Amino acid sequence: MGERFCYRCGISEEEGGPLIEGLCQVCFRKENPVLLIDGELNTELCQNCGSYKKRGVWVDPKTYELEELIFEVAESALLEAIEDSFDERVKTFGLVSPEELESIQELSVGEAVVSFEPVDWHIDYFPAIITYEVRVKARIHELQRELHDERKHVTVYVRQTVCPRCQKFLGGYFEAILQVRAEDRPLAEDERKAVEKLVEEKVDEIMRRDRMGFIQDTVEKDEGLDFYMGSTSAARKLAQAIREHFGGTVSEAYELVGLDRQTSREVYRTSVSVRLPKFRRGDIVRDRKGKVYEVERVDGKGLAMRDLSTGESEHRDWKTVERESVETVEAEKREAMVTSIGRTEVQVMDMETYETYELEKPKFEVNEGEIYEMVHLGGRRYFLRRKSY
Ligand SMILES: [Zn+2]
Ligand SMILES: [Zn+2]
Repeated sequence: MGERFCYRCGISEEEGGPLIEGLCQVCFRKENPVLLIDGELNTELCQNCGSYKKRGVWVDPKTYELEELIFEVAESALLEAIEDSFDERVKTFGLVSPEELESIQELSVGEAVVSFEPVDWHIDYFPAIITYEVRVKARIHELQRELHDERKHVTVYVRQTVCPRCQKFLGGYFEAILQVRAEDRPLAEDERKAVEKLVEEKVDEIMRRDRMGFIQDTVEKDEGLDFYMGSTSAARKLAQAIREHFGGTVSEAYELVGLDRQTSREVYRTSVSVRLPKFRRGDIVRDRKGKVYEVERVDGKGLAMRDLSTGESEHRDWKTVERESVETVEAEKREAMVTSIGRTEVQVMDMETYETYELEKPKFEVNEGEIYEMVHLGGRRYFLRRKSY
C-alpha cells in the first residue's frame, strides 16, 4: 500500500491525517462547515405589547425596557436560526459564554457549543440593527483531531409590527362579557371596588397563559359591573375567582351575534354571569326554625353568623344555608338603655317610646345606664350589641 494524500490540497496522510472521506483534517473541516446560518436575519416585535414570535408563536417578552427588549427579540431570532442551520451531523448543542467556548477543547461526536455576542448595533430607531459574532465549536467525526471552530457575523434586523392579539384589542374586539351582579339587589359600592381589585390581579395572572385574556372595557351599570373580555376562558376563570372569594353562583348564556362571512357559521357571544349572594355583613337573617342571626361575614364557603339568642357565632356553608332556608328579614333596629340587671334578666327602656321591658340576660356583659342596639322581630326583641359612639 502506498501513502495516501488529501484529494483537495495534496498533503500526505502522515502530515495532515488521518484522512476523513479522502480529506486531510483541515480540508475536512473546510469542506464540512457546521454553521450554515445566513448573514442577515429579520424579526419583528409588537409595538403595542412588546411580544414577538418564537417558533411561530407570539410570546410575551421577559423585559419591557426597550433597549433590553430589542436585544431579547434579536437574540431569540438568532438562536432559532442557529438551531435551524446546523449541519445535520450536529445532534446536540449548548449555548455558552464566549470565554467558556474559548476554553472548550473536547467534544463528543455530534456535539456542538455556541456562543454569540453583539459587536455592533444601531437601536435608536426602527428597524433596530444588531450584528453578532457567532462562534461554534463542534465534532462531527470520530477521526477529527481538532474541533470545528467557526465564526460568522450575523446581522439581525428588528422591525415593528402589531401582533394579532393587539390588532384585535385595538380594534375593539371582545369574545365574552363577564357580568358581576348580586342576587336581588344592586352590587354595593365596596363590592364593586373589591371585585375590580380582584379582577385586576387575576387578569395579570391569566394573561401570562392566555394572551387573549385581556379586558377590552369595563362598564359600570346600576345593577353591577360588565367586563368585556378577549377570551371566554379568561371570563370563566375570573368568574370562578370571584365566586371563590365572594360566594354566589356562576352561569352562562349565549347570544347569536352574526354569521362568520368565511365559514357562514353562526357566531355566538358568551355572557358569563357571577351572582354574588344577597347576604351582606350586618344583615339580620332567620332560619327555618325561626332562629335569628346577624351575618358577620360572607365568603366563598358560606356565612359566618351570630345567633342573637345565644350570642354564639357559627359558620354555615352555602349548602346548609340553603337547606336551612336562611333568609334575610326586615327587622326593626331600635336603641334601648339597660336600667337594671337581675340574676337572669335585665330591664331595658326603649329610647324612643320609653317603654320598659325585660329580656333574658345576654351572654355578653351589659352595664346599667348604657345604650344598646336592639333588634325587634316578630314580637321578639334581641340584643345586638352595645352602641358605639
Ligand atoms: Zn487537505
Ligand atoms: Zn401585541
